[in-house]
Amino acid sequence: MKPITEFSAITVRRFGVSLFCTNLTHPLIEKEMDVNITIIGSGVVGLAIASRLSEKYDNVFVIERHKRFGQETSSRNSEVIHSGIYYQQGSLKANLCVKGKEMIYDLCRKEDIPHNKCGKLIVATCEEELKALEALQEKARNNNVHDLEWLDAGQVKKMEPHVKAIRALFSPSTGIIDSHSLMKHFEKTSSINGVQFAYHSSVRNISKQNGSYEITLDDADGNSFQFHSNMVINSAGLESSTIAAMLGMNIEEYKMYFVKGEYFKINPPKNRLVHRLVYPVPGQKLVGLGIHSTVDLNGGLKLGPSAFYLDKNEYDYTIDETNSKKFYDSARKFLPFLELDDLSPDQAGIRPKIQAPGESPRDFVIKNETGRGFKNFINLIGIESPGLTCSMAIANYVEKLIEE
Ligand SMILES: Cc1cc2nc3c(=O)[nH]c(=O)nc-3n(C[C@H](O)[C@H](O)[C@H](O)COP(=O)(O)OP(=O)(O)OC[C@H]3O[C@@H](n4cnc5c(N)ncnc54)[C@H](O)[C@@H]3O)c2cc1C
Repeated sequence: MKPITEFSAITVRRFGVSLFCTNLTHPLIEKEMDVNITIIGSGVVGLAIASRLSEKYDNVFVIERHKRFGQETSSRNSEVIHSGIYYQQGSLKANLCVKGKEMIYDLCRKEDIPHNKCGKLIVATCEEELKALEALQEKARNNNVHDLEWLDAGQVKKMEPHVKAIRALFSPSTGIIDSHSLMKHFEKTSSINGVQFAYHSSVRNISKQNGSYEITLDDADGNSFQFHSNMVINSAGLESSTIAAMLGMNIEEYKMYFVKGEYFKINPPKNRLVHRLVYPVPGQKLVGLGIHSTVDLNGGLKLGPSAFYLDKNEYDYTIDETNSKKFYDSARKFLPFLELDDLSPDQAGIRPKIQAPGESPRDFVIKNETGRGFKNFINLIGIESPGLTCSMAIANYVEKLIEE
């Protein structure tokens, strides 16, 4: 595996491409190089793209502002491999989710990445919810998800004795994954393919210059560096709109809203009472999928995430303990064994949403910005759930967007 690097201060000019850094032992300086593709962000999406593109392209470069990969949304989620039920027919979310889940399961089997295809129950707890459950099955069919099974109350009891439902839809192709191991795999394969990782390096500015992109970085010590890249993949998650704005794409449809989700874990021994994912029927106006229960690979059980817009786009990962009552009230409908003091604060994540409060859900934006005058500058904006599930399919999609 090639060394993982941070920037420092010397100027290197090769093939008309310049890189300014400070450390003579920097591996990028050791060889003649031309930065061909710069990927901004080493979350699961940036890493999947690096792994894929480096099979075909040389001189791929990943820039990440943290010390390690996956320090933001990619490590603050439910780690669910979604089946593709909920999304608008024909959308990227629907298509890439259905493709992506198969790709991830194949990879997990081949590479021994910890996962569990445990399945998911979507439960109706009263007659009024049955219509919505039927509509969900129809939506799933339209998205090419044909494996949903109807269960009656007795079948639910047999599967999950502690879950209450009058009927349920069972999704056998939903599962959970160790997302850290997945990201580690992508980082390793990328490195083997020659990708250079610049951790602790934050993109501060980008401009277009004579057919390539000049990128300005700041390192952890406050030093600045510049280099040129032929192509740029903007997979900066919560900052992807800010990155696009650096090139003047400060447009309404890319406006980012931070939507926070909190989780509460169920304390032992009740965390062992449920073995599959259990979701309520989603409400019409919900921002997320409703408070649900997820299992993890260590036998943990947690509730969440909730979904609420933050007043400001701030990295606020605190958990308001007083919200436990809302989680309890929602989950008790289908997990009647719960008591309020079974819940403890767990973690929080932030969704990079591009729909304003009250608006209908928006699809992922994955676009080569040639039309705006930025050839081979590919924006990935609003990569919220199911972005983890879609990551490998997104990488293939991005590869097809590149114009030779
Ligand atoms: C609460 C919650 C639950 C979720 N549950 C699921 C789920 O169960 N299943 C599922 O499929 N999806 C789920 N998702 C969605 C999934 O987590 C995301 O779609 C996915 O992690 C996005 O990955 P990413 O690489 O695009 O973004 P990120 O993981 O945010 O990575 C972007 C990276 O860019 C870096 N960066 C930003 N700005 C700069 C800069 N200027 N310079 C350098 N680097 C920069 C950041 O540091 C970060 O590491 C959930 C999301 C949330 C919030």
